[in-house]
Amino acid sequence: MEFRDLKTQYQKLKPKIDKKIAEVLTTGNFIMGTQVKELEVSLAEYVGVKHCITCGNGTDALSLVLMAWGIGENDAVFLPDFTFFSTGEVVSFEGAIPVFVDVSEATFNIDIEKLEIAIKKVIKDGKYNPKAIIAVDLFGLPADYMALEALAKKYGLLLLEDGAQGFGGMIGERRACSFGDAATTSFFPAKPLGCYGDGGAVFTNDDEVADLIHSYRVHGKGEHKYDNIRIGINSRLDTLQAGILQVKLEAFRDYEVEAVNQVALWYDKRLKDLVKTPKVPMGYLSSWAQYTIQLESEDERERLQEALKKVDIPSMIYYVKPMHEQEAFLNLPHETGECSVTERLCKTVLSLPMHPYLSEKEVEEVCRVIRGYFRD
Ligand SMILES: *Cc1c(COP(=O)(O)O)cnc(C)c1O
Repeated sequence: MEFRDLKTQYQKLKPKIDKKIAEVLTTGNFIMGTQVKELEVSLAEYVGVKHCITCGNGTDALSLVLMAWGIGENDAVFLPDFTFFSTGEVVSFEGAIPVFVDVSEATFNIDIEKLEIAIKKVIKDGKYNPKAIIAVDLFGLPADYMALEALAKKYGLLLLEDGAQGFGGMIGERRACSFGDAATTSFFPAKPLGCYGDGGAVFTNDDEVADLIHSYRVHGKGEHKYDNIRIGINSRLDTLQAGILQVKLEAFRDYEVEAVNQVALWYDKRLKDLVKTPKVPMGYLSSWAQYTIQLESEDERERLQEALKKVDIPSMIYYVKPMHEQEAFLNLPHETGECSVTERLCKTVLSLPMHPYLSEKEVEEVCRVIRGYFRD
């Protein structure tokens, strides 16, 4: 069994993907070929925003937004303690201060009350300028953007949606990557919408920010590539990856999001009385980057993971360490117990095989092992 089955997906999409790859190879436009612009138009339309600017990966997408916003020294940026390293790394990379906020145990996403406490504390201390919030759609579930947008407005902060795992999710009629002042995603192969290498994108309705990102993405270009008006980076999506994503976006939109939600229901039905299963709040849709259960203890998790491994069922721990415990961030101020939920989650979460091509029979196979573990 695969944790995320990209081989089955390729077999299913092979004729179309092979044709696209041949199309790009034939034209020879490997950088910024027509497929890149076409994809950007389709992505913006799918998400429901004015601008989509693709780039080299999801980390660069975050950096490009912070660059366009002019985030830098002495600025504080708030983000969840329970996320992938990138979300905080980009803040430090711009010379700003990441402030880690605990998450809600129910959704794995940033805790709104604790976020407001953290914002007030930074204001009161007066050492750094509170500038922005980066919210993460962890494991595919959009964060609480109604509350986040209100809080950002109240304190005059910019709001960035890190939708690397959330692409395809929804709140009501609004799609993930349409929230806040700008949003980003990643096309890393294992993300909900993945390509066959690295890739990423920025989404925004802000014309000025979109213009700046077009410039920052290609060495701070002005009128043309050899007119450089600011210091930027080199971060473009390959034409080949754009072509592959054109085919994959169609499948994603037409049936994959629905299929992966069916898989979640199969898991829920079998596991809800045994372990703490992931909850999707009313009105939300998850794109299920991960299906993550919670165990009672680190020890229980280790033994269950061992039992799964014995019968060749892969499982993963996202994440083993809170951001504030990462060595790279040990220089930042942190009060003991501030992120106690994250600390506990890092010891108790376990992600099970999850993708749109998982059959009910395979889900049953995983759940049989889990049932067996709790019986013995
Ligand atoms: C994967 C991921 C990123 C970074 O994306 P890359 O394409 O790997 O650079 C950023 N944030 C979150 C939450 C992620 O899961």
